[in-house]
Amino acid sequence: MKALVYQGPGKKDWIEKPKPEIEKPTDVIVKVTKTTICGTDLHILKGDVPAVTEGRILGHEGVGIVEAVGDAVANFKPGDAVLISCVTSCGKCANCKRQLYAHCDDGGWILGHLIDGTQAEYVRIPHGDNSLYPIPADADEEALVMLSDIMPTGFEIGVQYGHVKPGDTIAIVGAGPVGMSVLLTAQFYSPGRIVMIDMDPNRLEVAKTFGATHTLQVGKDDIVAEIMTLTDGLGVDVAIEAVGVPATFDTCQKIVSAGGSIANVGVHGKSVELHIEELWIKNINISMGLVNTNTTPMLLKTLQTGKVNPAELITHRFKLDEILDAYEVFGNAAREKAMKVLISA
Ligand code: NAD
Ligand code: ZN
Repeated sequence: MKALVYQGPGKKDWIEKPKPEIEKPTDVIVKVTKTTICGTDLHILKGDVPAVTEGRILGHEGVGIVEAVGDAVANFKPGDAVLISCVTSCGKCANCKRQLYAHCDDGGWILGHLIDGTQAEYVRIPHGDNSLYPIPADADEEALVMLSDIMPTGFEIGVQYGHVKPGDTIAIVGAGPVGMSVLLTAQFYSPGRIVMIDMDPNRLEVAKTFGATHTLQVGKDDIVAEIMTLTDGLGVDVAIEAVGVPATFDTCQKIVSAGGSIANVGVHGKSVELHIEELWIKNINISMGLVNTNTTPMLLKTLQTGKVNPAELITHRFKLDEILDAYEVFGNAAREKAMKVLISA
């Protein structure tokens, strides 16, 4: 089969690889019908994730059709349409029992990281019973791909950990696919005002069409001053960081109100300065974490009933054998006005 393979920092290839086989009785082999590229894949390609070794097939998002199942798989059979979760989980260990799937003893984020991923014609999914979700035959497959990673990430680590409540003023720093997923799912709770903050004017315009009530452009607007004017000097109830650099975490510390929450979603490579000397007296809640995907069944319901339409995030479409072009577009997202690229078999 053909697959997108990491060949060391800065290098990737679309090459022939052996088709995966059942290795353990809990494995499921899925024929990938749709996949996408994540900002994390770009981080890997830069060499920022050294755990990814040369020869690894990338990708941790997608939908497909079950090709084969191991003897211990009870929930799926060949021919079933499935959503692939970015997090693999056994469903049985102590952390899985607490729905901390990201910390499964024999799983977590391993796809396209520690084991071969979804940017290929076929993928092996360990613990298939718990790591795949059945999808109805008539479901919008394109929208479903957004449920592998970005939608649960935005919802769990941004909205739920940030305790977004009706009427709140919330700020989302970073209008990439993850920040946009926070924007879409925060609206389940009817916040009063949603301020989207980014340096990319195109993304801020898109955010307005997805429900942002205010936008602020880094490099042009005085972010802290504008937020204070908007909130009568109080600050925002929830500040959600969806970039992963010290500057944006710092912005969140400056704009959060007393009694508010800072929910960090971004993956950080450097330490940040925590202004505990200013925050301790403000009764602030600070949270962070890796997506558990425990809300995927709930998000599936919101998608099927039309409460949310994450297909809006897709800006470009490619065939699987055009995946190198898809990387070129996604890797130059600002220039190409790209948000999510959809790659179909
Ligand atoms: P992205 O790179 O597509 O988007 C980031 C956005 O931040 C861009 O629109 C960019 O213009 C903007 N930005 C950059 N610097 C900025 C600054 N100084 N101020 C304001 N905006 C700035 O990334 P994404 O795919 O949306 O992911 C966002 C973050 O979420 C990444 O760090 C990613 O690794 C992380 N992530 C976390 C989890 C988790 O489980 N916690 C899961 C998936 C992704
Ligand atoms: Zn487990």
